[in-house]
Amino acid sequence: MEKLIVDMDDVITEKGFIRMINEFLGTNYTQEDAESYYINDLIPKDRMDEWVEFYSNNNVYDYANIVEGAKETLEKLNEKYDLFIATAYVFRDAPQVSGKTLNDKYNFLIKNFPFIDPHKFIFISNKELLEADIRIDDSPKKLIGKARLKLLFTAYHNKNMTEEELKESNFVRVNGWKEVEEILLK
Ligand SMILES: [Mg+2]
Repeated sequence: MEKLIVDMDDVITEKGFIRMINEFLGTNYTQEDAESYYINDLIPKDRMDEWVEFYSNNNVYDYANIVEGAKETLEKLNEKYDLFIATAYVFRDAPQVSGKTLNDKYNFLIKNFPFIDPHKFIFISNKELLEADIRIDDSPKKLIGKARLKLLFTAYHNKNMTEEELKESNFVRVNGWKEVEEILLK
C-alpha cells in the first residue's frame, strides 16, 4: 500500500477560526478578508491577549464543519492506502495554549473519523520531516518534504497560485474531495 498523508485544517475541516473570530469580534468577516494564511491576523493587536483567552476557553472544532465529501472519501482512501492524518497544532500567537489545541484535534478526529486508527494521527510542526508517497495539504509551505505526488487542496489563501507556480513546485491542484477521488480512486 502506498502511504498517504492528509492534512486536517482547511482540508478535512474548515471555517472554525473565522467563525470563532467573528463571534469574538462581533464581525462578519469571511476567510477571503484575511490577507494571509494566518487568519488570526484579523485580530487587532491590542486585543490579542483577550483573543488568546477566548481561544483557550473554546474549542475551535465546535465552530468548524467537515469539508464536503471528506468523510466519505477518506473512508474509501483508508481501504486503498496506508492513510495518516498529519496536523500542525502549535498556536502561533500563544504556543503555551497549544496542548489544548492538540487535545481538541485528537478528540475531533477520534469522534468523526472512527475508521482511522488513532496511531495514525501525526501531530507535528515541521512537515518537512514527513515522507510519503502522496501528500494532501492546503499550505504550499507545508507541502514540502518527500512525496511522489503532492496535491494542493484549494483554500482561500492559495487561490492565487498560478499554474506556473504549481508546476514549479510539483503540485497538482485539487478543488475539493471529488477531484481527490478522481485522482486517487479511479
Ligand atoms: Mg491546513
